[in-house]
Amino acid sequence: MRKKIVAGNWKMNLELEDALNLCKEIAVSTDKSTEVDLMIFPPAIYLYTMSSLPFETLEIGAQNFYPAEKGAYTGEISITQLSSIGVKTVLIGHSERRAYFGEHSDFLKRKVDSAIENGFNIVFCCGEPLNVREENNEMKFVKSQLIDSLFHLDAKQMEQVTIAYEPVWAIGTGLTATIEQAEEMHSSIRNWLTDAYSIDLSNKISILYGGSCNPDNAKELFACPNVDGGLIGGASLERESFLKIANSF
Ligand code: PEP
Repeated sequence: MRKKIVAGNWKMNLELEDALNLCKEIAVSTDKSTEVDLMIFPPAIYLYTMSSLPFETLEIGAQNFYPAEKGAYTGEISITQLSSIGVKTVLIGHSERRAYFGEHSDFLKRKVDSAIENGFNIVFCCGEPLNVREENNEMKFVKSQLIDSLFHLDAKQMEQVTIAYEPVWAIGTGLTATIEQAEEMHSSIRNWLTDAYSIDLSNKISILYGGSCNPDNAKELFACPNVDGGLIGGASLERESFLKIANSF
């Protein structure tokens, strides 16, 4: 059975007091018996404090790390350092890291390997820019992103992965993929997983939708047969909207 997941990517938002308050408010409003796994990816500077809070209902993950064990990488954080503060989940391949920080597919593959070797769970982002969709090349584009950085993992390792489909043209723009566009891509990703691994494995991997998902459109997106939840940017910065999305299954 696939896990239902709603994850908040806070990006470079919120100062300490607001971040801790929001984290606590979300955690205390969430019932342990809920069938949805909630995750927050806060700015790195808050990871230690947030991952030390005694909340079982909220997984705290890292937005980024550098794929080397240690050494002269000024400003970077290693996966073992994340592990040493109790973090067990990382986001890899977000379009903002690909676009603004030049994270190309080989580098992302190194990040994937580093995370897997250290026992981490990964939320791996993929998604096409607008010009690619306008040229009707989105399937080829997204499939390559998965093959280039992810599909070298073996089936056991793949079980540590959640895939987030985030069309770049929908991120932070207010434009959302239609349910047809979302389901078409999600079912294709599941078919590629079946082809590369097995039906058994593809039925275990959660595939999240991301891109201007909000309390008004989450229900219909999450009702798509191959959409297992969402990766939420802007709407995760406020308790009410994040929890409404989490209750949209
Ligand atoms: C994101 O950055 O992962 C994202 C989905 O952002 P937003 O929800 O703001 O479009």
